[in-house]
Amino acid sequence: MPKFVYDFTEGNKDLKDLLGGKGANLAEMTNLGLPVPPGFTITTEGCRYYLEHGSLPEGLQDEVDAHLSALEGAMGKRLGQSDDPLLVSVRSGAKFSMPGMMETVLNIGLNDESVHGLAAQAGDERFAWDSYRRLIQMFGKTVLDIDGDLFEDAIEEAKERRGTKDDGDLDADDFKALVDRFKGIVRERTGRDFPTDPREQMDLATKAVFDSWNADRAILYRRQERIPVDLGTAVNVCAMVFGNLGMDSGTGVAFTRDPASGQQGIYGDYLQNAQGEDVVAGIRNTVPLTELERIDKASYDRLLQIMETLENHYLDMCDIEFTIERGKLWMLQTRVGKRTAAAAFRIACQLLDQGLIDADEAVDRVTGDQLAQLMFPRFDGSKLEGSKRLTKGMNASPGAAVGKAVFTSERAVELAAQGEDVILVRRETNPDDLSGMVAARGVLTSRGGKTSHAAVVARGMGKTCVCGAEELDVDVKARRFTAAGGEVVSEGDVISIDGSSGEVFLGEVPVEDSPVVRYFEGGLSASDGGELVQAVHRIMTHADGRARMAVRANADNTEDAARARRFGARGIGLCRTEHMFLGDRRRLVEELILAEDGAERQAALDALEPLQKRDFEGIFEAMDGLPVTIRLIDPPLHEFLPDITELSVRVALAGDDAEPQDRRLLEAVRRLHEQNPMLGLRGVRLGLAIPGLFSMQVRAIAEAAAARRSAGGDPRPEIMIPLVGAVQELEAVREEAAGILAEVAEATGVDVPALIGTMIELPRAALTAGQIAEAAEFFSFGTNDLTQTTWGFSRDDVEAAFFSRYLELGIFGVSPFETLDREGVGRLVSIAVEEGRKTRPGIKLGICGEHGGDPESVHFCHEVGLDYVSCSPFRVPVARLEAGRAAI
Ligand code: ADP
Ligand code: MG
Ligand code: MG
Repeated sequence: MPKFVYDFTEGNKDLKDLLGGKGANLAEMTNLGLPVPPGFTITTEGCRYYLEHGSLPEGLQDEVDAHLSALEGAMGKRLGQSDDPLLVSVRSGAKFSMPGMMETVLNIGLNDESVHGLAAQAGDERFAWDSYRRLIQMFGKTVLDIDGDLFEDAIEEAKERRGTKDDGDLDADDFKALVDRFKGIVRERTGRDFPTDPREQMDLATKAVFDSWNADRAILYRRQERIPVDLGTAVNVCAMVFGNLGMDSGTGVAFTRDPASGQQGIYGDYLQNAQGEDVVAGIRNTVPLTELERIDKASYDRLLQIMETLENHYLDMCDIEFTIERGKLWMLQTRVGKRTAAAAFRIACQLLDQGLIDADEAVDRVTGDQLAQLMFPRFDGSKLEGSKRLTKGMNASPGAAVGKAVFTSERAVELAAQGEDVILVRRETNPDDLSGMVAARGVLTSRGGKTSHAAVVARGMGKTCVCGAEELDVDVKARRFTAAGGEVVSEGDVISIDGSSGEVFLGEVPVEDSPVVRYFEGGLSASDGGELVQAVHRIMTHADGRARMAVRANADNTEDAARARRFGARGIGLCRTEHMFLGDRRRLVEELILAEDGAERQAALDALEPLQKRDFEGIFEAMDGLPVTIRLIDPPLHEFLPDITELSVRVALAGDDAEPQDRRLLEAVRRLHEQNPMLGLRGVRLGLAIPGLFSMQVRAIAEAAAARRSAGGDPRPEIMIPLVGAVQELEAVREEAAGILAEVAEATGVDVPALIGTMIELPRAALTAGQIAEAAEFFSFGTNDLTQTTWGFSRDDVEAAFFSRYLELGIFGVSPFETLDREGVGRLVSIAVEEGRKTRPGIKLGICGEHGGDPESVHFCHEVGLDYVSCSPFRVPVARLEAGRAAI
């Protein structure tokens, strides 16, 4: 039979799975010799059994009996003993700290008799009755599920009768009366009396902690934070110490460093003559921890000493809960403290400088997500003061955005086209709002949570978003919204939204660029950037040194390529050529599609070629000396033609006067129309179906490379064929391409070697990678399409349709488009890596799907042995950091 109960002396900090975070750390502190009140922990295993079977496992109660006896022996008094009661707290504590679960019940063991014993022992009636009313209150609220306001209201009334606002002015009689009142509430609400048997109190509280694992709020929180559903919680039973025994007692919280900035110093709050949560509940005014030096110098010095011990032991910033009972300091909790992204970087470097951790560990202490947070623009903090805050919603997608409020997508697109910054405000968004979301600086919705359409899509686009701002009354028809304070914002009024905090402001709040981005851009040197930028610089330098994978960028133009390079990209992993067919060139593409014979087609291609060549030259120049992977045209042709409905209407309305060009276009649109364009005529199929198209592109690449070389540059082209499913497809294109490369070399007298490879983005390609590698000098995993084709759903169609439901049901922990699905898509990648290398040992392997910038997916790419990841320019630093972390 497993052991279900551990004394604090038996556990340690590495047993969080079994003892929960709180229990494991209480044990660790006990074994460090720190002053922790004695107690024991009932394991998460006991909880899991209880939740599954509805009863406690055999033997658990006996173990609790034995540990309780030992505790009573050590304390020299029995639980609830009437003349001198041992009191305990029953505290929840899961592996991850989890708001929404049952909190703690203090003062267990008090009843109508032992309250007198406690008063006599302490020599303090008021204290004893205060403790008793707290027990009934906490027990009533958390174990018996009674609305806490009923108790709070009763306290308010008592204070009113006294003519005071301060709990401190209530005396023993007031608390005695409150105890009666509270017992009445319990009777009224539950139909039974408050349990006076101390052991029953303890057991009921224990079960309530277990049950709270499945409270609605806890379930919701786990879902949001992606905490597994089946961990269960531990229960800690801990001898009470009392901070409410007079002004020489009190309770407090502290951090060993500032969790906001990382600065070293004394951070915390203290409250005299108080118990438990009083200090954070805001019932009375706390004092800054530094005041404790004046109030109780001995305890203060001891606390600082303990904080140092803890930092040196945990080698990290810790947070702490403590209580002082009549001049004696007790430690009640510690854990490695949560911190902001900026603090994480600074603390890692501080600890490195103190010699507490090494550089590898420092890199491991920060994450790509934290770095990403530091890269978003933010509101200038000094200007926030004077701004009118309208409301606070959910911080769905970080960043700061300012613009004119607009209420429809059409209007967003319209104003954006005129160069205006707009914020799209909707009740909620749907796929029809996509164009508006793209056009807007930010998105604000009054409904929906962090997995709503607006949130999911905005995060995917890296667009600032505040969602679920429920206090706002959005009236799309009237083109305005009303805030809770009555302020009305109409179309065109300027608002500012903070996607990192969820706040919404009226008017323009000045935005400042992140200093970290200015550093990456080269506009701010590491030494001038202050402590944060320096910390980022040091960590990035070490991460780059450790990374095995290179990081490239997805970039289609000179500007993006140059920026990516400044951000540390070692080449381009995906240059999409279809973007080069838009704008003015659309007309040329139309002509290509409408061409009725070979000559017309060739004319259109000849017109396109020099344009493409110029684009490539710019990109080769920006990435001089680094590889540039150019993907030949991928999307279905009809994407370059006008919308079928619009065109039909135009032609129909014009009747006999319709332009002949329009008629031909309409015919072409109809001819090219596909039910499933994603699975239709695109990629290599297009190249093989339309003679000359790929050749034109290859020629443009070769000529651009030759021109760069003649100008003294060092172009490194890699030609990538999309959507290959069979080696035969690739062979056909390859042969043609090789011929053109040779032709251009001969004509120009400059021989620029170009690799020819393919994307692996179809399951068949992954499964036959061994054959495909015969014809491919490199593979680039196109995991966006590979995810679509593996799951059999198209991202554009399904994200809004059912993803939030799937996330809710736990079918996905996270969207497979956000983080690579290891079991399915990942398995195909592994197979392709293995088989590809078997055929061609030196084959270059990379990834160019959006997963290339996702931390979790970057780790996967490292593990599976890819040579590089490629991501959007802005994500390059994140990928560099994670590539380094993956290698450590
Ligand atoms: P949480 O997980 O919400 O922090 P805790 O179990 O830490 O809950 O308890 C809540 C409060 O009660 C804390 O402020 C803690 O210091 C206090 N507390 C818990 N156990 C005891 C005890 N044995 N003696 C005195 N105070 C206690
Ligand atoms: Mg606590
Ligand atoms: Mg693709």
